Amino acid sequence: MDFELSQEQRMIYEYGNSLVKQFDRKYWLACAEQKRFPQEMYDKVAADGFVGMMVPEAYGGAGQGMTEMHLFLEGLSNHGIPLLSLVVGATMSVGFIAKHGTEEQKKRYLPDACKGRTRFCFAITEPGAGTNTIQITSIAKKKGDRYSLSGQKVFISDADGSDYALVVTRTKPHNEVTKKTDGFTLFVLDLKKKGIQKTLIPVAINMPETQWQLFFDEVDLGPEDVVGEVDKGFGILFQSLNPERILVAAICCGLGRYALDRAVEYTKERRLFNNVPIGAYQGLQHPLAAAKTEIEMASLMALKAAYVFDQGREAGEFSNMAKVAAADAGIRAVDAAVQCFGGNGFTKEYGIFDIYPLVRLLKTAPLNREMILNYIGEHVMGLPRSY
Ligand SMILES: Cc1cc2nc3c(=O)[nH]c(=O)nc-3n(C[C@H](O)[C@H](O)[C@H](O)COP(=O)(O)OP(=O)(O)OC[C@H]3O[C@@H](n4cnc5c(N)ncnc54)[C@H](O)[C@@H]3O)c2cc1C
Repeated sequence: MDFELSQEQRMIYEYGNSLVKQFDRKYWLACAEQKRFPQEMYDKVAADGFVGMMVPEAYGGAGQGMTEMHLFLEGLSNHGIPLLSLVVGATMSVGFIAKHGTEEQKKRYLPDACKGRTRFCFAITEPGAGTNTIQITSIAKKKGDRYSLSGQKVFISDADGSDYALVVTRTKPHNEVTKKTDGFTLFVLDLKKKGIQKTLIPVAINMPETQWQLFFDEVDLGPEDVVGEVDKGFGILFQSLNPERILVAAICCGLGRYALDRAVEYTKERRLFNNVPIGAYQGLQHPLAAAKTEIEMASLMALKAAYVFDQGREAGEFSNMAKVAAADAGIRAVDAAVQCFGGNGFTKEYGIFDIYPLVRLLKTAPLNREMILNYIGEHVMGLPRSY
């Protein structure tokens, strides 16, 4: 067993060190405040080959795996620049098409996406079903050899800036299937098509990506838009959802570390009594040290989940554990850091409280803490189902 990163993996992890010379957290926050996609940073990351990280070289990608994507995103987040579109776009959608798309789909979508010329969002959540995906009602009805999609999705990140959405929908209503996971199909949807409306959902989180409600009214789709098998989409869905959990864990660990690093710098300098730096006080030091320990443990679990995923093994157990551990650790790290800064912890100038809303979001989304614990209790530990 070897815990060391290869030289290439270390370079991927440390890419953020050079990126921040051009695009740092200040730039990211300015985009967040203006609700503007960080296009220049995205272009640079795409040009350097990271948007296509999980796409084979034959289609314009870097041919790397989940482990490298995880290291890349955690490395950026260590600098306070979580690039969320790499989760829903580059990994959940583009990486998914690279794995499950037809040859024609790969040739059509991947090269442009890798270059950053097109973007993808991922649409699964519906207002009525919420966490209970089985209950989604959007449906692509068969019309001759084509499909007609109607229904709605909610909280779709970057839907306005994206060219395509990878949409999870029904092709059979749930009362017509014998197995509850049957009747789901994934489609690539061109967001310029007729019959699509978008409404902005203002959220109280400082992030550049905006959230949208999508309404579909008899949107035309063809067999060429199906990713995977018709009615059997649920089986491959977790090839997209487990990577999402791993990358969310990466972001929480990185942002937690960023907050702790700022707190360490500050508490080593600030002296209030007897010329002693406040970082020497155990009341501040122990919460920082405990949070650091939790972050590093969660980070290791996320790395394990990515490794297992890359091996083609079932990654649900470790992906879920990594996500829940990292979200909790990230929140505790930011909270400990805020305390160290006293009143300055709440100012725009120091930017510490600014980190909190995003890590707190990641306790609820993409899958809430309770459902993750339900999964671990039920599927990992064999406890009875409660809901
Ligand atoms: C900023 C943001 C960005 C998002 N981006 C996307 C995106 O790009 N694409 C997309 O498809 N979705 C996206 N989402 C949606 C997100 O994944 C959902 O909001 C999340 O999964 C929770 O679903 P819900 O809001 O319907 O909550 P509900 O399902 O209504 O659940 C409410 C609460 O009830 C509790 N709960 C529910 N079920 C159980 C249970 N069985 N046991 C115990 N407790 C339970 C949980 O605490 C949960 O938080 C985004 C959401 C936000 C806020």
